[in-house]
Amino acid sequence: MITARKLISNHPTLSYLEKCTSMAQLLQIHAQMITTGLALNTFNASNLILFCALSDSGDIRYAHSLFCHIPNPNLFIYNTMIRGSAQSLSPKNSIFLYAQMVVRGISPDHYTFPFVLKACGRIRDLELGKTIHGILVKLALESDSFIRSSLINMYTNCGSVDFACRLFDKMFDFNVVSCNAMMSGYLKVGDLGSARSLFDKMPERDLVSWSTVIAGCVQLGDIKKALELFTEMQDLRIRADEVILASLLSASAQMGALYRGKWFHAYIYRSNVKLDVVLSTSLIDMYSKCGGVDIALRVFRLMPKKDTLAWNAIITGLAMNGCGEKSLGVFLEMQSEGKRPDDVTFIGVLCACSHAGLLDEGFRYFECMTRDYRINPRIEHYGCMVDLLGRAGLLEDAQDFISRMPVEPNAAIWGALLGGCIIHGNVELGECVGRLLIELEPHHSGRYVLLSNLYANANRWDDARNIREMMKEKGVQKIPGQSTIEAMGAVHEFVMGDRSHPQTKEIYHMLDEMAKQLTLAGYTPDTSKVLFNLDEEDKENALGYHSEKLAIAFGLINLGPNTPIRIVKNLRVCVDCHSVTKLISKIYGRKIIVRDRNRFHHFQEGYCSCKDYW
Ligand code: ZN
Ligand code: ZN
Repeated sequence: MITARKLISNHPTLSYLEKCTSMAQLLQIHAQMITTGLALNTFNASNLILFCALSDSGDIRYAHSLFCHIPNPNLFIYNTMIRGSAQSLSPKNSIFLYAQMVVRGISPDHYTFPFVLKACGRIRDLELGKTIHGILVKLALESDSFIRSSLINMYTNCGSVDFACRLFDKMFDFNVVSCNAMMSGYLKVGDLGSARSLFDKMPERDLVSWSTVIAGCVQLGDIKKALELFTEMQDLRIRADEVILASLLSASAQMGALYRGKWFHAYIYRSNVKLDVVLSTSLIDMYSKCGGVDIALRVFRLMPKKDTLAWNAIITGLAMNGCGEKSLGVFLEMQSEGKRPDDVTFIGVLCACSHAGLLDEGFRYFECMTRDYRINPRIEHYGCMVDLLGRAGLLEDAQDFISRMPVEPNAAIWGALLGGCIIHGNVELGECVGRLLIELEPHHSGRYVLLSNLYANANRWDDARNIREMMKEKGVQKIPGQSTIEAMGAVHEFVMGDRSHPQTKEIYHMLDEMAKQLTLAGYTPDTSKVLFNLDEEDKENALGYHSEKLAIAFGLINLGPNTPIRIVKNLRVCVDCHSVTKLISKIYGRKIIVRDRNRFHHFQEGYCSCKDYW
C-alpha cells in the first residue's frame, strides 16, 4: 500500500501539475492523469481543483466539473471550492457547497467560515449572514480574530454598519485586521470621521491601515486629509507602497495638481517602489487629467507590459485633451499588437473621433465594435455618436439616430444634442431639447443656463428671463464657480470676485492691465448679452472677475514665462471667459490649459484645442 502511494506521488505527470501556469496546460495534465488512472486518487484530484479554483489563471467552472466527479470530497476539497466560489462571479455557490458539506456530515472549520461569510457579503444576504453568525457563536468560533474581521466585513458589505460596530466594540483584542475591516466598513457608508478617529486610536497600524484611510479620503473627496496623512507617514518614516501611491496619484488627478503628481512620480523612483501595470496606469491617468498628455504618452511608451486598462487610459487621455488623431493612432497600434479592446476602449475611440470631427471614422469604429468585437453599445457609446453628429451640424441625423437607439435616451444624450443646437444656432430644436432636459433634471442648474443662453444668443430676452425666473421659483441652487491653480508648491483657490488671497492687490492690478491689453487687441465684451446671459456663475462683475480670470491673472504674476498656466474649473467655462482666454494666450504668448467640468481647453496663440465647441 505504502509503495503504491509512493509510486503515484513520484509520477512525472504530478510534477508537471506543480509547475502548471495555465488552463491549457492543466487540461493536458488532466488528460494524462485520466489515461494513467492518477485522476482516481482523491489527493491528486484535489490538487487539480486547487489550481482551477484558486489560481489567477484558473477556471472555477472546470473546478466544479472536477468536483462533481469526486465521490466523497473531504474538508480540504470543500474549503478549496468554497473559497474559490466566494471570489468568483457566482458567490452563491459557496453557500450551496457549505450546506452540502453539512448535510454530508463534514464539519466545517475556521478555514471554511471566512469564505462563507465573504459570499454572504457579496450577495448582500444579511439574514443568511446572521444565521452563520449564530452557528459561529454555537461553535465558539466567534472570537477567532480572522472570523471576527470576516464578520465585520460581512455586516458592512450587507449595509449593516451598526451590527459591525456592536461586534467590534465587544472585542477585547484590538488587532490590526479587524480594525482595518471596521475602518473600511465606515468608509463604505461614507463615514470618514469615524474611520479617521478609529485610525487615530489604533494601537498599531500596518500598510493596509494607511492605504485604507488614504484611499477613503480620496474617494470621499477629502484630498487635503489624504495629503496630510501622507506627510504623517513620511514623518514616521513609513514607506508608501503601490496601493497608497495609486490613491495619491488619483488625488493629484482630481485636483489637477500636476506638480504634486510629478512629485509622487519622483517619489516612486526615489523609493524604489515597483512600477507595476496598475501604478503606471495611475500615472498615465494623472498626467492626462492634469493636461500633461505628452508625459502620459511617455510613461505609456516605457511600460514593458501593457494591459487593457493601460491602453484605455492613454486612448481616453489623448481624446479628452483634444488629441483625437494621436488617440486613434494608439488604438490602431493596440489592434495591430493583437490586444483586445473592450467597451471602455471604444468610448475613448469614439470620443477621439468626435473631438477631431472625424465623422466617417466614428461610424466605422461604431460598427466595428459590434461586428468585429461583439461589444454591445452602451448609452455612453450612443452619447459619443450623438455628440459626433451634433458637432458636425447634422442635427437631423442626430435626432434620427436617437429615435433608432434600442435604449431609452438619457440626459447625457439630450445634452449632447443640445450642445450641437447651440453651436449651430438651431433655436427651434434646441428649445425643444432644452425644455425636455429641464424636465428630466429639474435640479441641475446647468440645464437652465444652457437654455437661457440659447435664447440670449437668439436675442429672445423675454424667454431667457423666464428661464431665469423658473429656476428661482424651483429653488435650484447654483453651484458657486471655483478655479484652482497650482503654484509655488501649493494649490490656490479662487471664487468669483475673490479678494481673500494675500496677493489680491497684485491680482486686481493685473486684471486691469489685462483689460487694457484686451481692448488694444480689439476685444469688446458684448455687454448687452452679458447682462441677460445667465451664466453658471453669477453676473455682477461678470466681465472681469469670473474665478478663472482671477486664476489666470495670478498665474501671469507668479509663473515663469515658459511655464504653462494650468487651471481646474468646477463648472463649464463661459463664452466670455473662453474668448478672453484665447486672446490672453496670444497677447502674453502663454500656454493656458483649463480643465472644466467636461473637457480640456488647451489655449495657445489665440486658439483653443476644443475648436470652440464645448
Ligand atoms: Zn466666465
Ligand atoms: Zn476651448
